[in-house]
Amino acid sequence: MKAIIWGSCGSLPSPASSSAIRQKVKNALWAARSEQFQSEKQVDDFLETLPHSTHGTYKANTSCVQIDAGTEDVILCDAGTGLRDYALTIPADAQPRTYHIFVSHLHWDHIQGFPFFSPAYVPENTIIFHGFHSSIESSIRKQMRAPYFPVPFEAMQASIEFDIQENGSNFDLNDVHIRTIKQEHPGDSWGYRFEHKNKSIVYSSDSEHGPESRNSDYPFIDFFNKADILIFDGQYTFEDANNSKRHWGHSDHITAVELAARAQVKQLVISHHEPSHGDLEIESLCAEAAAYRQEYNQQNTSKSKHAYPETITLAYDGLVIEA
Ligand SMILES: [Zn+2]
Ligand SMILES: [Zn+2]
Repeated sequence: MKAIIWGSCGSLPSPASSSAIRQKVKNALWAARSEQFQSEKQVDDFLETLPHSTHGTYKANTSCVQIDAGTEDVILCDAGTGLRDYALTIPADAQPRTYHIFVSHLHWDHIQGFPFFSPAYVPENTIIFHGFHSSIESSIRKQMRAPYFPVPFEAMQASIEFDIQENGSNFDLNDVHIRTIKQEHPGDSWGYRFEHKNKSIVYSSDSEHGPESRNSDYPFIDFFNKADILIFDGQYTFEDANNSKRHWGHSDHITAVELAARAQVKQLVISHHEPSHGDLEIESLCAEAAAYRQEYNQQNTSKSKHAYPETITLAYDGLVIEA
């Protein structure tokens, strides 16, 4: 099973500006000033030695993650603008399919890609929204109404269904079992844990973890327990999450490490990046997270025990992570 990140930016799409791209090119050229490249492969190999912030960016599209469990049906989490980039990978002559979209909540950054989702305009396709907000259908329809969008929902010819469940419900899709949890976020949000053949991927976006997260019976410790991959909302700095942005519904990179360590998560993926943070700033938060991981494990793990999370990765659009 693998997770494919199609949208890692929180709140609104934030592609790199021309000046930011120019700075990246400048940094790369400067770093390469003493290299003698004989092939494009050597250039690619050299780029791999540079930080991701030099040759890429961490945030462009808003939330969308594909869970690839090898099923015929497609499994997606949220329908932010990353959904459109996913749709661009579908061949024009693709066989009709069923697309399942698990909705965390209805804030704009989690649904605004759907009007651009090309499979929704193909009559033979089926799209099923799964979630807990009774207003999923009306929200999806409303954002396509005039004057917000030129094409009405009714122009979508695929069969579009809405599977709305009560809090506490789980899902089964082919041989994938999906557990859920209600999260602290304005208007509520839900996290999803996908389990398949002894592997598990948790998608937990837009979720605040307040002081109660330090309790030993905090339910997220069980929900994240031994996950192979945890995709976590680390939008804020620890300082902001606990002070000026308390109750805004997001978490931070330090809390990400602490919960992942307690739950013995293997791969921690920090996502839903703050749009006002530059790529270097996001990398420095990740470096702080890595330092905290070491500090936390020195204090809480005896030498013989394994340290968690094994890896900390920053999400970016196009990242593929194997469980
Ligand atoms: Zn969001
Ligand atoms: Zn939100």
